[in-house]
Amino acid sequence: MKNDIIVIGAGLGGLVSGAKLAKEGKKVLLIEQHTIPGGCATVFKRKGYTLEVGLHEMDGLHEDDFKVSIFKDLNVFENVEFLEIPEFYRFTNERLDIVIPHNVDQAIKNLVSVFPDEESGIRKYFDVIINLPKDMFNFPKKKWKQLLIFPFVPILYPNLVKYPKISVGNFLDTIIKNNDLKLVLLANLGYYHDDPYSMSMFYYCIAQSSYYNGGAYYIQGGSQKLSDYLSQVIQNNGGEVLLGYRVEKIIVENNRAIGVEYRETRGENTEIKKIFAEKIIANAAIPNVVNNLLSSDDTAVLKTKTMNLKNSCSVFSIYIGFKKPIKEIGNKCYSTFIVDSEVKNQTDLANCMKGDLSSKNFVFVDYSQIDSQLAPKGKGVGSICAVDYTADWENLTKEEYDKKKEEVAQILFDRLERVIPGIKQEIDYYEIATAKTVERYTLNPQGSIYGYAQTPEQAVPNRVKQKSSIENLYFASAWTFPGGGFTGAILSGYLCAIGILHDQWQ
Ligand SMILES: Cc1cc2nc3c(=O)[nH]c(=O)nc-3n(C[C@H](O)[C@H](O)[C@H](O)COP(=O)(O)OP(=O)(O)OC[C@H]3O[C@@H](n4cnc5c(N)ncnc54)[C@H](O)[C@@H]3O)c2cc1C
Repeated sequence: MKNDIIVIGAGLGGLVSGAKLAKEGKKVLLIEQHTIPGGCATVFKRKGYTLEVGLHEMDGLHEDDFKVSIFKDLNVFENVEFLEIPEFYRFTNERLDIVIPHNVDQAIKNLVSVFPDEESGIRKYFDVIINLPKDMFNFPKKKWKQLLIFPFVPILYPNLVKYPKISVGNFLDTIIKNNDLKLVLLANLGYYHDDPYSMSMFYYCIAQSSYYNGGAYYIQGGSQKLSDYLSQVIQNNGGEVLLGYRVEKIIVENNRAIGVEYRETRGENTEIKKIFAEKIIANAAIPNVVNNLLSSDDTAVLKTKTMNLKNSCSVFSIYIGFKKPIKEIGNKCYSTFIVDSEVKNQTDLANCMKGDLSSKNFVFVDYSQIDSQLAPKGKGVGSICAVDYTADWENLTKEEYDKKKEEVAQILFDRLERVIPGIKQEIDYYEIATAKTVERYTLNPQGSIYGYAQTPEQAVPNRVKQKSSIENLYFASAWTFPGGGFTGAILSGYLCAIGILHDQWQ
């Protein structure tokens, strides 16, 4: 039987679009090149530890958060447990050690106690961050269809529109003098981008306010639970999820996508199969769709639209199993950002993010602070994560690559030990992933984890839309509107499905 929809890729954007369309009665076939669904939202098991590939914290889940409506629609809350994370983050460099809670009044209090001369700047920061995106939250959720009329995004964010070309770095410079305070506020910049002076203020406001308005959440048992559940929704509604198969070509006739060619991922000479559908959704990275999956005859418009767009950064991660829960050796925070003492201002921060890995700022996530259920009883799981680029790992032999990974890991462990004494001796198992690893597992070029970089020119409201210039070909991923991260990919998938269901774009 012919499928209504083929989804290419089981990242969150692909899974959510497929789940919504299957639930609405469409016959969905999802094809994923990996052997498990989820893309960045997966886990892997080693020595009894469940090691989380991607999720540190998911923003939001407050009553105005669009994800809540999406999760309710797909019965996610009945099937996946979300754990609230106790505080936003701890920031530490050799000059400062401060915890930032999600509660705005408390965050202001903590910051003013350390930076009393900057009280007005601190208040202005929160006023802008918290209040401007509320335009969006006040938007009636029943009017989903209007969200699809992206050229009118300013209607959704009338106040934010005054910031379209401003970077968060420029914004902070206009309201705050103290450089350490700016660094504290930017501790989690790596959640979105790698440089405050090219980070879209628009995107930053929406994402950061969601953490402050709604807190942050982790999925009990790991992000795989959400991916597996969404995959199950597709199958329970008559769809199919084909794992271990890679789409090699999107078949287009007269500028209309009609099907795909795919083959088993493993093995060079596996048979190429063709399958057809009414609509094709690419969760696969847009640059790959343009450069590899479509033939050059079909891509003229898409190529012109996307050829100058820059990809976001990737990440270097160390996934760690500990002999005991790290809170038992005195660690009190879920996310600890460890900032190099040489980073003294925003320009240093940008240089540091792009510089040598061993002196980069990084975050340590201690999953033992919540009932994450990732570790066997009496043990712990954590991860170290820093911004990374595939370019830093090119032209190395396997031995050189492994040696470099290991050297970086040991330096980061030593830096972590200075902040959480005793942690090194509790390490039982660790595995290192670079930007190259992310690229290999997700096929995202350069291992980009947030799609196109969230610069003022490329972020909301200028983001690539779900509907492509090829008829019946859609995008649902971090590469589209509204942007990267769990929230971005989930929203993208849902908007794509709603658009198809309502034929909004015909
Ligand atoms: C280490 C790490 C930490 C992160 N931390 C957070 C966090 O704390 N909070 C947060 O919100 N976000 C975080 N993110 C980012 C977030 O996970 C991603 O932005 C988001 O999950 C991307 O979803 P996506 O739908 O774009 O698809 P992706 O996750 O990029 O998946 C794409 C899928 O498509 C498949 N695919 C690609 N091409 C093909 C093809 N030709 N045929 C078949 N299948 C194909 C891939 O195998 C993959 O499964 C993190 C990411 C990483 C890697």
